[in-house]
Amino acid sequence: MTDIQRLDDRTVERIAAGEVVERPASVVKELVENAIDADATRVEVVVEAGGTDGIRVTDDGVGMDREAVETAVEKHTTSKIHDIADLEGGVGTLGFRGEALHAIGAVSRLTIQTRPRGGDVGTELVLEGGEVTSVGPAGCPEGTTIAVEDLFYNVPARRKYLKQESTEFAHVNTVVASYALANPDVAVSLTHGDRETFSTTGQGDLRETVMSVYGREVAESMIPVGAGSGANADGDDPGSFPDGPLDGVHGLVSHPETNRAGREYLSTYVNGRYVRAGTVRDAVVDAYGTQIAPDRYPFAVLFLDVPAGDVDVNVHPRKMEVRFADDEGVREQVRTAVEDALLREGLLRSTAPRG
Ligand code: ADP
Ligand code: MG
Repeated sequence: MTDIQRLDDRTVERIAAGEVVERPASVVKELVENAIDADATRVEVVVEAGGTDGIRVTDDGVGMDREAVETAVEKHTTSKIHDIADLEGGVGTLGFRGEALHAIGAVSRLTIQTRPRGGDVGTELVLEGGEVTSVGPAGCPEGTTIAVEDLFYNVPARRKYLKQESTEFAHVNTVVASYALANPDVAVSLTHGDRETFSTTGQGDLRETVMSVYGREVAESMIPVGAGSGANADGDDPGSFPDGPLDGVHGLVSHPETNRAGREYLSTYVNGRYVRAGTVRDAVVDAYGTQIAPDRYPFAVLFLDVPAGDVDVNVHPRKMEVRFADDEGVREQVRTAVEDALLREGLLRSTAPRG
């Protein structure tokens, strides 16, 4: 085959967009991350039909002026890093690729309304299939509202593979819950159609946030985990926390009797970033030993502190993966931290160490 041709820009863009935007939940993830990076104290997520008909995220963050919002929807534009050196030291923001707004805009109809904090004029910008179709002044509150409609209207193959509304919503719910739990000082709410799924107070207390998201029974069953640096007073047990890549592990895990059939209630974070790290989840489950049936999983909200040089967060935009320089070390430290918490509550037999 010698018929090699360069793809036209629009085709390239839609293929690239697919890397970032797989389903409604990926849009929600990007928009919520942007809101949190914008220093919001309040983030409202409203979705229609599981997010397949509409997604709206409103924040009270720093907002954007007209020039900023026009730049923000272009390809590879970010205010968060300047060059690769900024990544080496570990980024302090959730976003840094400058891809999301552009990618979402390429495969939907996107409306941004935004006003800078303290600014007196707002801007509305509309993007359809990657083209700016209107931009101009608009009356809107400080902060930013981004509405995404007709997701994948111009990528029928992708649209066809969306699952049932309930399935798409379950993914959205998992994402919003994860960010709510990681940010107890931000009031986060999720509404599906005309029904509010949950809303947190933003008062800064983790257990209270768990109560808002998962309900009282789960919140009351949660046990504090705290090992290494940053451990809380009642959870600190430096004696048994092994040396390893993690500076500390802290958060809450559930009583073994409070469990579910799915792993989606194991929320794990690396340096404040929500990750789906198999290593970490396995280590948490391992700690429960035989106290939990093999097909059941505990609730966990667990924060890992890792020196920037020992973790790579730049693996994949969508999969929320991280790569640890020392996987085994992480596993050992997480398991020990959770085991110690369960032991302290008398919920594990401390006899034979498992291998
Ligand atoms: P990234 O988050 O990686 O920088 P995005 O495409 O998600 O890339 O966003 C591009 C830029 O748009 C951000 O760097 C930020 O400056 C701006 N931005 C996006 N969302 C918001 C928001 N909700 N509030 C304020 N600024 C925002
Ligand atoms: Mg972003």
